Amino acid sequence: MTKSFADQRLDEATARIRRFLDHEQPDTPCLVIDLPTVRDRFTALRAALPEVGIFYAVKANPTPEVVGLLAAEGSCFDVASPAEIDLCLELGAAPEAISYSNPIKKARDVAYAFERGVRLFVSDSEQDVLALAEHAPGASVLLRILVNSKGSTYPFGKKFGCAPEMATDLLRLASESGLVPLGVAFHAGSQQLDPNGWDGAIADAALITAKLRAEGIELTTVNLGGGLPAGYLEQPPPLAEYAAAITASVERHFGDVRPRVMIEPGRAVVAEAGVIRSEVVLVAKKSYSDERRWVFLDIGRYGGLAETEGEAIAYPLVTSRDGVPHDGVPLGPVVLAGPTCDADDVLYQNACYELPLDLRAGDHVDLLRAGAYTASYSSVAFNGFAPLATHCVR
Ligand SMILES: *Cc1c(COP(=O)(O)O)cnc(C)c1O
Repeated sequence: MTKSFADQRLDEATARIRRFLDHEQPDTPCLVIDLPTVRDRFTALRAALPEVGIFYAVKANPTPEVVGLLAAEGSCFDVASPAEIDLCLELGAAPEAISYSNPIKKARDVAYAFERGVRLFVSDSEQDVLALAEHAPGASVLLRILVNSKGSTYPFGKKFGCAPEMATDLLRLASESGLVPLGVAFHAGSQQLDPNGWDGAIADAALITAKLRAEGIELTTVNLGGGLPAGYLEQPPPLAEYAAAITASVERHFGDVRPRVMIEPGRAVVAEAGVIRSEVVLVAKKSYSDERRWVFLDIGRYGGLAETEGEAIAYPLVTSRDGVPHDGVPLGPVVLAGPTCDADDVLYQNACYELPLDLRAGDHVDLLRAGAYTASYSSVAFNGFAPLATHCVR
């Protein structure tokens, strides 16, 4: 089978990163980000959704080089805290290019954001709307609704958003409180594998918009949140299918009065740009009868691989014994685990990973497509293991 252009580019990026690792031999574990791939992903998103405002979700990977590159490319930013606001501003983002999209925030953090020039906020509760009215007077507000995140590998559950009726009332409240009620926001769940996974929420947003229009409140915007997927062991449908499905949903539900559309991709921008290099600490068997070996790496759930919880995200692996994945090297089943003294620090025991039979302590295991939600999730120093270091390749 011939590889697609995108796959070839990705192979080139992985090869570039692995050359860097082999040449520099940095301490492991570490994450290496290929900046040309970040630029490539951002450019591909902009080309697929040319009329959509792209707000990169900083939490996916806040490495300064990544944020600076995206600011230079003209990206906007979705932030969740004063520190993320400072980071974006320092790296060249304009305050107008920032959306404070976390509905859970302290009143003094709202005041800080406002003081730094941020004028766009997402909310989902009465108290937060009132805090915005007081500490960010006249700012624009999007109301986040609860949505069904079926199709998502990493759903958000019920923590964020409120029922559409409540969101409608809160947009009215925003209007009465001197804020600019801008529109509806939602998140259809991360790693959304169904290109139509946004449709139900877009329909809800259009209903709210129509209802308020009838009362003279004109919402102009819909914020589709994140959820665009990355390729891990499993390949999602191509970006073009997502762009077509999303564009068709907006047209179908909003009709002639087309809203301004925002998206907040995190994973889709950075996941495929990163490789984590880890070292095998120990290979062990638990009994003479169990064929599976336990492979303990120097990175685990606390070192940046939090998304292996429930084995939700399955990273492709390449070891220093197989150069090219599964290139004729004899393989056997393994359980993969991290190095800490925590019983939950197991990465994969249900997924059927197979690694070379001669794998041993000191070998490298590279985790591919690991640029999103890894370094930013790593603990300060659980069990004395340092947080995951990030290096960038240009
Ligand atoms: C985390 C987050 C995102 C990014 O989600 P991805 O699935 O990584 O694209 C976008 N918007 C909000 C509000 C988020 O919290």
